[in-house]
Amino acid sequence: MADCLFCRIVAGELPARKVYEDEEVLAFRDIQPVAPVHVLVVPKRHLDGLAAAGAEDAPLLGRLLDAARRVAEAEGLAEGYRVVVNQGRHGGQSVGHLHLHVLGGRAMQWPPG
Ligand code: 5GP
Ligand code: ZN
Repeated sequence: MADCLFCRIVAGELPARKVYEDEEVLAFRDIQPVAPVHVLVVPKRHLDGLAAAGAEDAPLLGRLLDAARRVAEAEGLAEGYRVVVNQGRHGGQSVGHLHLHVLGGRAMQWPPG
């Protein structure tokens, strides 16, 4: 999608600090980190969010989670980490391209706000 921020990052039209990439997935550092490690994992193909995924997207969703685990390992998050998907207005989603947040480097609070 031409006017999508993360599609533009995937296309190389906007810069990002990449930490992982494969054929279907890109991971890059969040521009406003809320933890010492804050990486976004996105599908290269545009999806508005988790709610826009269908059963046929299950392999891609699996690849996103697998990439999140790889990022956590590469970032040395042996003490643990959190993977978050914000969906829609009540979920706090602000960018309309599906993304997983990988947060680590400090203890997380529960419940989230
Ligand atoms: P959401 O609120 O949709 O779950 O998460 C969107 C995330 O994208 C936020 O954490 C925000 O800081 C991050 N973000 C917004 N614009 C940019 C950008 O241009 N580059 C990067 N790397 N992250 C961004
Ligand atoms: Zn997009």
